[in-house]
Amino acid sequence: LQKQVIQSEKLSAVGKLGAGFAHEIRNPLASIIGLVQLLRENNEHNKYLQIITDELERMKTLVNQFVLLGKPTKLQKMNSEVVQLIRNTVDLMNSNARLNKIQIEFVSEEDELFAPIDESQVKQVLINFIKNAVEAMPDGGLLLVQLQVNKIDKEFRIIIHDEGEGMTPEEVESLGTPFFTTKERGLGMGIPICFDIVKAHNGSIEIESAKGRGTSIHLIFPLQNGMRRKKEDD
Ligand code: ADP
Ligand code: MG
Repeated sequence: LQKQVIQSEKLSAVGKLGAGFAHEIRNPLASIIGLVQLLRENNEHNKYLQIITDELERMKTLVNQFVLLGKPTKLQKMNSEVVQLIRNTVDLMNSNARLNKIQIEFVSEEDELFAPIDESQVKQVLINFIKNAVEAMPDGGLLLVQLQVNKIDKEFRIIIHDEGEGMTPEEVESLGTPFFTTKERGLGMGIPICFDIVKAHNGSIEIESAKGRGTSIHLIFPLQNGMRRKKEDD
C-alpha cells in the first residue's frame, strides 16, 4: 500500500491551546525531576526512585515533543552535501543497530550531491525513520538506505527500507496523525514531526508497506537549482 503525504495534519490535532498547556507542565516537571534526583543520592528506596525518574523523563520527552508539534517549522536552509550527511547519520545509528543484530547499509548513486536543505532537521528526519525501522525488526535484519537522484524532475530521494513487521493499510493511513503509535512505550510523535519537516522543504513522503514483509519510506526533496557542484559555487 502506498500513501502520498501532501499536507501535515499536526495543527488540527494539537493546536495552540495544547502547546500552552505543555509549557505550563514543563516547570513543575523539571523541579520534580530535580527533587527525585536529590532523594536518590541518599535513599534506600532507590529502585522505586529510579522508576519514578524514568517515568518523569518520559513525560519530559512527551512534553518537549508536544511543544515542537505546536510550533511552525522554521528551516535554516543551506547548500548542503547530502551524501556525507546520510553517511554520518547511518554511522551514528549503526552502533546501536548492531546490538539489535541489524546491519544498516547505505547505497548512493552519487559520490556527492548538493541541495538546499536544513541539515540538522533532515538529519532528525533520518534518525526518526531509521529508529522506526530498527524497532520494526526485533529479530534483526538488513536496513537499507538508498540515495537516488532524478535530474530531470530535479529532485532526490532517500529511501529507508526495512524487512520488519510492516503495517496494515489502516496503520499506513494513520501515519502522520499525532500520537498514533502501536508501541507499548511509543509516543507517536516522530512521524508527524518528520512529515512537517519534509513538507517545509517542499518535499513529499511515499510509504510502501506490507504486513509481515517490511516497509519502504521514500523521502523526496527538491534539488531546486539542480545538481550543484561545490567547485562551481566557488
Ligand atoms: P512511535 O515510534 O513512538 O510509535 P512514530 O510516529 O515514530 O511513533 O511511529 C508511529 C507508528 O508508525 C509506530 O508505532 C508504528 O506502528 C508505525 N511505524 C512507523 N515506522 C514503521 C516501520 N518502519 N515499520 C512498521 N511500522 C512502522
Ligand atoms: Mg518512532
